Amino acid sequence: MMRVLILGGTAQARLLAQQLAPRLDVQLSLAGVTRTPIPQPVPTRRGGFGGAEGLALYLRDQAIDALILATHPFAARMPFNAAQAAADTGVPLLRLLPPPWQPQPDDHWQSVPSLEAVPALLGSSPLTVLLTIGRQQLTAFTHAPQHHYIIRSIEALPADLALSHVTSLRRRGPFSLKDEIALMNDYAVDRVVSKNSGMDSVKAKLTAARELGIPVMMVERPPSPDITTVARVEAAIDWLLDLPASVWPQA
Ligand code: NAP
Repeated sequence: MMRVLILGGTAQARLLAQQLAPRLDVQLSLAGVTRTPIPQPVPTRRGGFGGAEGLALYLRDQAIDALILATHPFAARMPFNAAQAAADTGVPLLRLLPPPWQPQPDDHWQSVPSLEAVPALLGSSPLTVLLTIGRQQLTAFTHAPQHHYIIRSIEALPADLALSHVTSLRRRGPFSLKDEIALMNDYAVDRVVSKNSGMDSVKAKLTAARELGIPVMMVERPPSPDITTVARVEAAIDWLLDLPASVWPQA
């Protein structure tokens, strides 16, 4: 059977692994940042490889036939590592990446080039800001302590986060439109800060913001190397099954 390594950390990676498991020999790799990951449908390893060289070594050691990059669209380093390791080993590489969200006519989005740029753009008057950006890059907001931050994250906030006006909500998606509207109303949210992940599982917040007329600060994606990319799990499966005979292990 063809041996496939999926670099995961997203719901799409989990779904792909689940759908491939009956047909191919699939391994999933997670960075290991979530302390309470949900159960995965295939054998799973956790932790970094040690850069592009470490990943190339792993691909060779494990006799991996194909590599699927299905990390989060804002995982900045892994795409470059995967591209380098694939080039070094000759292992075919595909990226599974949903297209970015596009604003609808009733949306009030402000496109922001990076998360670090958001605090200054929030202005000086105190606002209630819903941060749906995880818990890893919150330090930037210590430069704008005048706002009340509602921070939604899977894990607890860092103990040393130097922000006093914070409400921490520990929740894991997907989130329904009803819940998103209730959350924004309950906390009288003035702004939503979102990464443009394009992921269906967290899209309801944008519909909620549109319906409530709340402006969204939309952080654009980090740079990426040039990798053959598909948007949907079904297309990734087709790509794998269409790989040339030379990639498939001989019986
Ligand atoms: P990153 O900048 O691409 O990765 C940082 C380092 O973490 C990589 O160099 C690699 O270490 C290790 N790593 C990342 N993904 C890995 C995987 N699937 N398996 C093994 N090692 C992995 O990514 P990040 O922003 O730190 O995110 C870490 C993980 O969280 C990613 O898997 C991503 O899918 C997930 N995630 C990220 C975000 C986000 O907004 N950034 C949101 C939700 C989930 P080595 O160089 O040592 O191999």
